[in-house]
Amino acid sequence: ERRNPGEPEFHQAVREFVETVMPFVLKHRKYKDAQILERMTEPDRIVIFRVTWEDDAGNIRANRAWRVQFNNSIGPYKGGMRFHPDVTLSVLKFLGFEQTFKNSLTGLPMGGAKGGANFNPKGKSDREVMRFCQSLMIELHRHIGEDTDVPAGDIGVGGREISYLFGQYKRLENRFAGILTGKGQTFGGSLVRTEATGYGCVYFCENMFNHIGDSLEGKTCVVSGSGNVAIYTAEKAAERGAKVVVMSDSSGFVHDPAGIDAEKLAFIKDLKEVRRARISEYADKFDGVTFHADERPWNVPCDVAFPCATQNEISRDDAKALIRNGVKAVCEGANMPTELAGSHAFLKAGVLYGPSKAANAGGVAVSGLEQSQNALRLSWSREKVDEKLKTIMHDIHDKCVEYGQTDKFVNYVRGSNIAGFIKVADAIMAYGVV
Ligand code: NDP
Repeated sequence: ERRNPGEPEFHQAVREFVETVMPFVLKHRKYKDAQILERMTEPDRIVIFRVTWEDDAGNIRANRAWRVQFNNSIGPYKGGMRFHPDVTLSVLKFLGFEQTFKNSLTGLPMGGAKGGANFNPKGKSDREVMRFCQSLMIELHRHIGEDTDVPAGDIGVGGREISYLFGQYKRLENRFAGILTGKGQTFGGSLVRTEATGYGCVYFCENMFNHIGDSLEGKTCVVSGSGNVAIYTAEKAAERGAKVVVMSDSSGFVHDPAGIDAEKLAFIKDLKEVRRARISEYADKFDGVTFHADERPWNVPCDVAFPCATQNEISRDDAKALIRNGVKAVCEGANMPTELAGSHAFLKAGVLYGPSKAANAGGVAVSGLEQSQNALRLSWSREKVDEKLKTIMHDIHDKCVEYGQTDKFVNYVRGSNIAGFIKVADAIMAYGVV
């Protein structure tokens, strides 16, 4: 904390990681002697820059943007860009750190990075978002490249933003290259990338249930958020026979005891992806639905919780409420959505607990597949990409079991951390003193 003052999210992510990996490091002296944890917790490099742009009223605006290139030991840097007013260096360092081990878990050659800006896309016109993205890329283009660093989307950065960013890169460099993922279908995007994080999260959840001889079918689910990850988590969960009764956004949650089916989800997609409106409209539209303003959804009884909004959205008390109401599985679509005390509570209660590093790795995995397709100048079918995604999520589950099996249950936190760690640590050590 003396080394990184004022970075609570980064401390939290490192603490959770070190807590589970330290016993392994102590058992394998080669890692300890090489000071591997000290080296891994320091990013390779951080770029911080001003983004100046003009709003529709002609006012000049200035934001701050970052790219945290955390670790490229096993491949070019890879990780999303987040546009949100609460973005800080601490948040991006935690995300970049997590990304390093998540990417390692996918089995693909990708290093870890994260970036973003304290820009609030809410209430901005398309033209304002475009001018902001173009201005941001004027600096970012120097630091990225298909063999250097390949950013993607995250909170506040979806298809629209990626397109503006990609278009500007192409103008600046006069090169058409796979330097971003999550691109549109007509210019190098991969099928299933939009759905991948949510679908992958549900596949991981099914793997956890199958491992104990159970399934997702018939389970009642609470999904937080109504953005990219939440929508496709809800879609796949419903498709697999589960009943999704809650979705939310930053203004509150809607509770639909009848279940959010494909038709109702189409309304949410239009609401959030096209109209960029509030989730409360869902309660006005469908019968029997209640809207709970400014509340988190974790008191609604459920079998499965899919936190898919943001970090630290499940406090210790929320975790206890979920456990009290009999939750069987918690599968994290968002990054670090559970406070450390909440994770401990889930593990203690024997809940099937799929941490973000493992459960939401499907997004970056398909981003990796997008990079492969771009390099080959090919486009794979939806079935082929989905099949590869399923296999990758299954393999990640296997790795978690290999390193996380205890007498009584699988500790997926420990399993994912150790499995992700080994590959990165061995690469760093092979390079010598770097
Ligand atoms: P989106 O911007 O598409 O959606 C975010 C959702 O979360 C929105 O419903 C938003 O509500 C809500 N939200 C955001 N911030 C808060 C907050 N502080 N409190 C309450 N609700 C909030 O982002 P994504 O779906 O892409 O990302 C969601 C999570 O998943 C993040 O943790 C991200 O890092 C993680 N993730 C995303 C991946 C991807 O492929 N996109 C890959 C792996 C992880 P509102 O509409 O009101 O803003």
